[in-house]
Amino acid sequence: MRIPESKIEEIRSSASIVDIISEFVQLRKRGKNFIGLCPFHSEKTPSFTVSEEKQIFNCFGCHTGGNVFKFLMEYEKISFIEAVQELAEKLGITLQYDEETGTEKQTEQEFLYEINTTVGKYYSDNLLYSDKGETARKYFEKRKIKVQTMRSFGLGYAFPGRDDLVNFLTEKKIDITRALKLGLISSYEDGRLYDKFSDRIIFPIFSPNGRVVAFAGRVLEAEQKAAKYLNSPESSIYIKGRVLYGLSHAKDEIRKQNKAIIVEGYMDLISLHQNGIKNVVAVSGTALTEEQVILLSRYTKNVVLLFDADAAGIKASMRSIEILLKKDMEIKIASVPAGEDPDSFINKFGKEKFEDTIRRAQNFLEYQSAQYESQGMFDDPAKMTEAIRELVKPLALINDELKRTLLLKNISKKFNLRERLLEEELTKSLKEQNRNSIRESERKAQAQKLKENINVLSENKTSLMNESNIINERELIELLYIGGAEIIDNIFKNIRIEDFEIEIHRNLAIIVFEAYSSGKELYAGSLLDKVNNDNEQNYLIEIITDKHSISSRWEEVSDSTKDNKLSTKYVTDVIRKKRIDILNKMIDENFKKLKSVQDETEKLKLMRNEMELKNERSSLLRG
Ligand SMILES: [Zn+2]
Repeated sequence: MRIPESKIEEIRSSASIVDIISEFVQLRKRGKNFIGLCPFHSEKTPSFTVSEEKQIFNCFGCHTGGNVFKFLMEYEKISFIEAVQELAEKLGITLQYDEETGTEKQTEQEFLYEINTTVGKYYSDNLLYSDKGETARKYFEKRKIKVQTMRSFGLGYAFPGRDDLVNFLTEKKIDITRALKLGLISSYEDGRLYDKFSDRIIFPIFSPNGRVVAFAGRVLEAEQKAAKYLNSPESSIYIKGRVLYGLSHAKDEIRKQNKAIIVEGYMDLISLHQNGIKNVVAVSGTALTEEQVILLSRYTKNVVLLFDADAAGIKASMRSIEILLKKDMEIKIASVPAGEDPDSFINKFGKEKFEDTIRRAQNFLEYQSAQYESQGMFDDPAKMTEAIRELVKPLALINDELKRTLLLKNISKKFNLRERLLEEELTKSLKEQNRNSIRESERKAQAQKLKENINVLSENKTSLMNESNIINERELIELLYIGGAEIIDNIFKNIRIEDFEIEIHRNLAIIVFEAYSSGKELYAGSLLDKVNNDNEQNYLIEIITDKHSISSRWEEVSDSTKDNKLSTKYVTDVIRKKRIDILNKMIDENFKKLKSVQDETEKLKLMRNEMELKNERSSLLRG
């Protein structure tokens, strides 16, 4: 399945990147661009820039950038093709698909999704219809899971044998290499294949758009020796820390209620869902990550943590609080009585009692204080200082000063702690925090510098290049990517690939050249999608949004020229500069040869050659 390139271009060019991003990020106009707070990293002053004219976005803080598809991919953690589909839907463009295979990046992910879908169906059939699935059905029955729920969450069962899935894949002629990549099967040293999941109940893990990206398998009996849970390894469609289990089922309800409940396990979530509590996601197996919080924050800022009441659950809550606070989320903590988990609780006490629990959720400071109080830490003066320090630490993560002060007063009253003492600790924490964030931004700046140096110094030759020649190459690359067919043609008629002296420039030029020489239509904005290497893509986006490039230079020239930013004069100038540089090098080369050659006819030829080169150079220099 493939969407024709012309269609992708139609979608891209009918969308205004400013309109699309405005749905997610508050943008305001500055000069020719729009700016806003970056949705991909925390910041207080905007470094996120969107260019209407170039139809790209770029963040100068975290260096995330690209065209409108890239934005949707990053923002919603979806694949390229999903981004195309989503945008088409928004714009009311009907998609038709070609049968032939498309670009490699696009179809490789599609293949993986397809395999996961087929295998998910296979596991689900095992559970619902097969004789061998009896034990698994009994298991779910015991846990009060209805068939309808099993279907809705795609629950399944992997048979106890070691080659049931292997046989199924072979029979269905499914690509084994890809199945290995997805971690569905594995191979012994002698090359024989075996099922990774066996005798486990299966939870498919969905992307926010509802596609199967991975599987989790749970043993049926707790006393079995194997690990309780087994998860698919990460792949190009599954990055563990970026997925929230159940989000695809919960997102509408989360938006509607403007609140999300976070639980620990798959079964917690499924039971709650079955009992009508649908605004739930599960972290399942990982500690809550920043990326998960960013993902969730697109649907709501209000979170209720509902972790198990055991020590591990409390520890996980505390850790999650910090991450949530950093992302400006409003956090409440709810808890079920000791010995229960959300799954057992709702099955025993029902929906209303559960909703009561959620209503009674405490703010995070109350929750933590209560924990310390129950451990007797406020009674022992030595321990109290430590407890207060721990309490105040997360407060320092809150950006809003007023909110901080209110919470502090609250806690001082409630637990009879001196406000001054709390304030002093908070000031210390804030200072520490400040130091850390400065250090972090310094590190980032250093890493960026290093990256640039690596790019520029990737070839020894480069050290001989002067800055203006490097800038000239960058300008050519920019033109190749935003100039369109005619300009690309003009550049390649004058400049060869090997004339690009900096490796990363040459690589980027090759990508355009391949599209150019294959005779396909060239669309300026869509060439960006062909750059698969992250490093190269980031670098390219920097070039395109670089303040020293066309954009700022055109601020200086007259308005009439500005309208035609890719004017022939500018393009000609950039190409001419490179041509002169190339000619200079050829003249040098020629001169060296001339000095070493003895043969008279050869000498004559070289001299004629020198003349021609010099003629061309002076005509170029004259303009
Ligand atoms: Zn950023």
